[in-house]
Amino acid sequence: MSTTLPSLATDPVAIAKLVEEVLAGAELSAVQARELLDVEPGSESFAALLTGARRIREHFLGNRVKCCSILNVKAGNCSENCSYCAQASGQASTEYDKHKWLPDEDIAVASESAKANGAAALGLVAAWWGVKEGSQLDMVCDAVEKFSQNGKVRADVNLGILENQNCADRLKKAGAAVYGHNLETARSFFDNICGTHSFEERMDTIKYIKKSGMGLCSGGIIGMGESKEQRIEFAEQLRFIEPNMIPINFLNPIKGTKLGDRPPVPADEALITLAVLRFFLPDRNIMAAGGKEITLGDRLHEVFAAGVNAVMVGNYLTTMGTAPDYWQTAATRWGLNMKTDVETIDEAPKKSCGSNDCGCD
Ligand code: SF4
Repeated sequence: MSTTLPSLATDPVAIAKLVEEVLAGAELSAVQARELLDVEPGSESFAALLTGARRIREHFLGNRVKCCSILNVKAGNCSENCSYCAQASGQASTEYDKHKWLPDEDIAVASESAKANGAAALGLVAAWWGVKEGSQLDMVCDAVEKFSQNGKVRADVNLGILENQNCADRLKKAGAAVYGHNLETARSFFDNICGTHSFEERMDTIKYIKKSGMGLCSGGIIGMGESKEQRIEFAEQLRFIEPNMIPINFLNPIKGTKLGDRPPVPADEALITLAVLRFFLPDRNIMAAGGKEITLGDRLHEVFAAGVNAVMVGNYLTTMGTAPDYWQTAATRWGLNMKTDVETIDEAPKKSCGSNDCGCD
């Protein structure tokens, strides 16, 4: 006779009980999260999972949807070889506009456009290894200072690896409110998707960001070939670094990239993943970011059904996004309000995580 305990995935009553525990402050274990990833689409457990994710969102974060936008401020010919990226070194894909760092006027226009699209923040994203001290840091800080002073939207940056603490401190002083730096995936899977820099270099950058006082925006990409166990490992690492915002992207397989032939994640699997992340990281801002359109198709609005409280609006780095009006309608449909005013970052977590790998003190 088997002594295996029933999985949470097949027990909607146990999922509902787990919701109450999370609302009361309990932390979901990695084992529980892994079991929830096996929920069968369309089942009672699926309904319980998504209903629970919405209750947890409402309890910890209310009913406001945050919107961010990004600008490819330096596009193409990247030195790095991230396997999902059209801008990676040696990629054949040329179906986007490559350019050097944009002039201040273009950044100002993009700020206006982001605001008109309902975004509260605009992140300047550069396709390169990262930022080093010297003339490059001076140039970037000068541009960020002008960008932050225009006041249209919150001035965020996503500039890759930071060489040292001084780079982060200078960017903070120039006015950068939030630094975006994704973990991308689980530590144990990272070497499969990038060979030109390491997971540890990314963690060092996260340490500099947190110490500088900038907010941290850090998430990753689902669907690059990682296992379900590695998705939970990734979630544990996110819990560990405590980002202010967690953008969850789904692989958009772009022709010419190394992952160009991988199929997109099935829609239900994507929604289950988002809902499990909401259970696992109940009080964090979780954003549905790149790849959601190709993954969810006409079910795109269901990201709100799965407990996210933020969306990326406008276009992505090399692909098109969804019209802002869509998100307004979708938010209303799920009983949420769009938050479009310029906002400061949420207060950074104060408690130490007790690890040498993380930046918190
Ligand atoms: S993801 Fe960023 S660092 Fe990696 S290849 Fe693309 S632009 Fe370069």
